Amino acid sequence: MAASEFAVAWDPRFLEYDFGPTHPFTERSRSLAVDLLGCFQGDGAVTSLDRFEPLADLELERFHRREYVDRVERLSRRGRREPLDAGDTPSFPGCHDASARLARGTLDATAWALERPFRRAFQPGGGLHHAHPDRASGFCIYNDVALALRYALDGPPRRQRVAYLDIDAHHGDGVMYGFYDDGRVLDIDFHQDGRTIFPGTGALSETGRGDGAGTKVNVPLPPGAGDEAFRPLFRRIVPSLLRSFRPELIVLQHGVDGHAGDGLAALQLTEASYREAVGTTLDAASELGGVPLVVTGGGGYTPENVTRTLARTGLQLMGRPSPAAEAGLPATWRRRYRDQLALEAPTTFGDIEPGNRSPWSIERTDAMMRQLESALGRSLGRAAGEAGSNP
Ligand SMILES: [Zn+2]
Repeated sequence: MAASEFAVAWDPRFLEYDFGPTHPFTERSRSLAVDLLGCFQGDGAVTSLDRFEPLADLELERFHRREYVDRVERLSRRGRREPLDAGDTPSFPGCHDASARLARGTLDATAWALERPFRRAFQPGGGLHHAHPDRASGFCIYNDVALALRYALDGPPRRQRVAYLDIDAHHGDGVMYGFYDDGRVLDIDFHQDGRTIFPGTGALSETGRGDGAGTKVNVPLPPGAGDEAFRPLFRRIVPSLLRSFRPELIVLQHGVDGHAGDGLAALQLTEASYREAVGTTLDAASELGGVPLVVTGGGGYTPENVTRTLARTGLQLMGRPSPAAEAGLPATWRRRYRDQLALEAPTTFGDIEPGNRSPWSIERTDAMMRQLESALGRSLGRAAGEAGSNP
């Protein structure tokens, strides 16, 4: 693929999505990821688009209720910090425009991918998958990924089948319940088991309802599951489902909070899992005739992971080789990292090592596949070219 078929959506004003200095969610680490990608992308050719105006209310109302959008606008104007949910998602001055601008970035990225000036689009600032039609949740005010799916379905032209993949450590509840009855949306979500982490949903038994029955696929993993669990399950589940569903668009929510060392989650993944997820998705998209692909960011609460993992993913989407673990990070970038985060910057691409791992085995992978097949009422078969279920 020519690099010109790949585009990055990043507007410096995405940094205005800011819950304050003590809040765990920050777009600053995504901004530094885009910077780092720029340092390694090589000569020109990559299109970077950087002006996004906030989505209009009518566009937001494709997924969100009008009363909710009105409430966010009111609090945004008043500049008040008030809870927008029962937890840790407060309003802040300008929160409506900041959230609607992020959503515009994801929607435009989706339009580029569908209309084909670029086949792959990367929006590291997006992926706010917890927001519901009528409320904020889990640091997410407007659900940009749900809005992107709605955009593709509404058209013109109306798409009949879109796939949503979610590898954030937290279950993408806003998206799944938003399309729970809708058979046009295949939703495959790998996450830390909801019995051990927010938002508590995403059980294997949740498979959709009515027209959506059998199109919602949840893969809950125990804390400490690691690459040995994630990689073979991703390989066995995702290509098989994509092949039979034949989507016209794939949106991958690429949260990084499953990575070892994350401040909020405990899946203990490494770069190998992210590379596997992106590579497998790219292979499936090309096997199906070049399905347009949009990759967003998501959660991620350890800037060392967010910056390096998202930069690697950007390179992989461009078709560039992954930097070696010992590849040094530029001094200018490390200085910006220290200035913006008041943290010491990493020196190389080398991963944070996994900590508390729970034992995993091929037998557990097989058992999980059987449970999933029984919940979905269908066989998932084997991924093409796969000889066994070793990671
Ligand atoms: Zn998350």
